[in-house]
Amino acid sequence: MIRQDILKNIKRVVIKIGSSVISNKDKGRSALECGLSKDWVRHYARQIKLIQDKGYDVVLVSSGAIMAGRERLGLSRADLSIPEKQACAAIGQSFLMHTYEKAFEKKDIKVAQILLSHDDLGNRRRYLNAKHTIEALLERNVIPIINENDSVTVEEIKIGDNDTLSATVACLVDAQLLIILSDVEGLFNRDPSIKIKGEKAELLSHVARVNDEIERTAGKSNNKLTVGGMYTKVIAAKKTMSFGIPTLVVNGLDEKVLENIFSAKDVGTLFWSGKGKIRDRKHWIAHTLKPAGTLVVDAGARKALVERGKSLLPAGLVKIKGEFEFGKAVIIVDEEGKEIGRGLVNYNSRDLLQIKGMKTPAIKKLIGKSFYEEVIHRDDLVIF
Ligand code: GLU
Repeated sequence: MIRQDILKNIKRVVIKIGSSVISNKDKGRSALECGLSKDWVRHYARQIKLIQDKGYDVVLVSSGAIMAGRERLGLSRADLSIPEKQACAAIGQSFLMHTYEKAFEKKDIKVAQILLSHDDLGNRRRYLNAKHTIEALLERNVIPIINENDSVTVEEIKIGDNDTLSATVACLVDAQLLIILSDVEGLFNRDPSIKIKGEKAELLSHVARVNDEIERTAGKSNNKLTVGGMYTKVIAAKKTMSFGIPTLVVNGLDEKVLENIFSAKDVGTLFWSGKGKIRDRKHWIAHTLKPAGTLVVDAGARKALVERGKSLLPAGLVKIKGEFEFGKAVIIVDEEGKEIGRGLVNYNSRDLLQIKGMKTPAIKKLIGKSFYEEVIHRDDLVIF
């Protein structure tokens, strides 16, 4: 029932294709020797054409650049240096696009490449620019194919995995559904690769809330070919859910999976709370900006933020971690280290170290003209 309801109400879908879904690992190669499988790319071009014909807008987020580049350079070592990986991405990305272009051409569909970096998404103007470009493409029935701009992005500021990127893109384009095509069936109640006699791991069909237990269940990835594992998928779903977008994690190696999804069959794991759309700008603060530091707050401030919807004041600050400037995004945690929310700061970290725990009149005296009552104003604050 839930799946049918979702399908009835969607117009725009983001589909993330993982490297392992379009790899030629079926030809008996080890994960690191895999290259791009033209057959799988063609298969998905055909499937996406069917979805487009049903009237849906489709945006693709495709991995596979590094994998394709590795194969072309014959680099199957596990320990590639960063410049080597970036070289692979540069070579592989054009090959990946060429392959998509050829496959979609057969179906009379044009495609467009968009390479995004964290900087693009973290800057409001560039974020909106990307959004407008994608809108203009969709209006013309062109399929945007998005990847991270791996060859020029410095490791420390990378988005890092395309699960996260696809969640950001789903929010960016106001999609009503994110489909993550992976090489596993979905999220299981425990690691299905560990065999326990007489106890089968069960696939979770619906997750209404990503809590600590779900995050723990997702564990970390050990797949050599891909960056993300179930963990990054669950975190991506948490993001989209907080923006009111349902996310499906399904097995993309099942050729029928998209057909099954669009005929409301119960495949994969659906992450969907059924509610909770937060405003666009707040989503950007909470999920797109990279936090530059952490503020530890006391129990009183925690209560004011969580239960009373107040701004964060200097009096409730216990500790400041990291160095940051005015206007940066920071994480707010309680004294146990549990994340409460995120927001944009009105003070740099040096000033905060001075004024933490202080009351307004004393701060006014110390700071003078550039004084702000709030460390983070509630309009710039997202509480989870
Ligand atoms: N952007 C990387 C690539 O195209 C993939 C990252 C990922 O697998 O999540 O190779």
